[in-house]
Amino acid sequence: MSTSTSPVLRRKSVPVRIGHVTVGGDAPIIVQSMTNTDTADAKATAEQTAALACAGSEVVRITVDREEAARAVPHVREILDKRGCNVPLVGDFHYIGHKLLTDFPECAETLDKYRINPGNVGHRAKRDSQFATMIEVALKYDKPVRIGVNWGSLDQDLVVRLMDENAALEEPKDAAEVTREALVLSALESSQRAEELGLGRDKIVLSCKVSDVQDLIAVYTDLAVRCDHALHLGLTEAGMGNKGIVSSTAALAVLLQQGIGDTIRISLTPEPGGDRTQEVIVAQEILQTTGLRAFTPQVIACPGCGRTTSTLFQELAEKIQRHVRSRMPEWGKKYIGVEDMSLAVMGCIVNGPGESKHADIGISLPGTGEDPAAPVFIDGKKTTTLRGANIAEKFHKIVDDYVETRYQRRV
Ligand code: SF4
Repeated sequence: MSTSTSPVLRRKSVPVRIGHVTVGGDAPIIVQSMTNTDTADAKATAEQTAALACAGSEVVRITVDREEAARAVPHVREILDKRGCNVPLVGDFHYIGHKLLTDFPECAETLDKYRINPGNVGHRAKRDSQFATMIEVALKYDKPVRIGVNWGSLDQDLVVRLMDENAALEEPKDAAEVTREALVLSALESSQRAEELGLGRDKIVLSCKVSDVQDLIAVYTDLAVRCDHALHLGLTEAGMGNKGIVSSTAALAVLLQQGIGDTIRISLTPEPGGDRTQEVIVAQEILQTTGLRAFTPQVIACPGCGRTTSTLFQELAEKIQRHVRSRMPEWGKKYIGVEDMSLAVMGCIVNGPGESKHADIGISLPGTGEDPAAPVFIDGKKTTTLRGANIAEKFHKIVDDYVETRYQRRV
């Protein structure tokens, strides 16, 4: 039954407030996402932001790439507020962030955090002054920033400097190692510069995103010991479908297990017209399956084999997963701890009763040639046997009744 507690010791970081959400310190690891709408279209952006928030994204980032987008930001907030959605909004700035933040004070005031990419704020003298302008705006409006370094837009002056220094060594390191050092240094030097300009450590989140799993692990492992800033984790450009999910999970699971990471984002490429909220569900699943947070009841299902020649149990597993997800927004508001509930849907008698007994509620469906009966186990004990049509609906009712009687109501 669901009694697991995480053995992971989190790295100590300085907590940062992003709107009403805390990232770092003792706060739970926060799930973030990013819209892919044109922010200038305030209605579409607000709609997608609300969908992401509804799916469980606790912070949502939006692109602020030009004047029309900066002008639309307060309208996005207004629409969200009217819908009762208070998710913090982060503005993603590149190249002209300094200009947009100063020319559109309402945008600067509305956003809950600014993402600054030190590789995309300008070159040499301009870089310093434009970076300083963004930090000054953050100071003026009391906003935190994320200094978000990215492999694809790494500060080239810094890379050249490190490569030159490396070439002068008696035993030069390989180029990949120097590039990883450039990523970490870009984040650390930029955060130091922000602090020199007056921004507190409680206003700075760092990230160093790359698209290779081993590089990401190496970079964050290094970054984690060289600062105490809250860290935003994510494998950038993870890709589509299974590849994106697996590579993100592989990288993040290793880091999270080491206690590294205060907030995560899964950068999945949706199918054309696909659902953007999938990245939120994957992020939640990573945190929940690693035992770091609980969001929604987990359904354990066996893979099926030659003993399950009908699709009954796959259909039931899918239906029950959908059912608990759809009920969770209401259950979460009403009941304490319901997100920890575990359910098992098993295909036959071989492992069915055993696995079902380990879950809070389990059902063992009949395999090929077995008596057409499905014993149900609650808290480890067989309570009833379902037969005939509508097994799914009957099982949903059992789950609903269990939630109502087992979990304490919030007051
Ligand atoms: S529980 Fe039964 S149906 Fe499921 S994988 Fe095991 S043997 Fe196959």
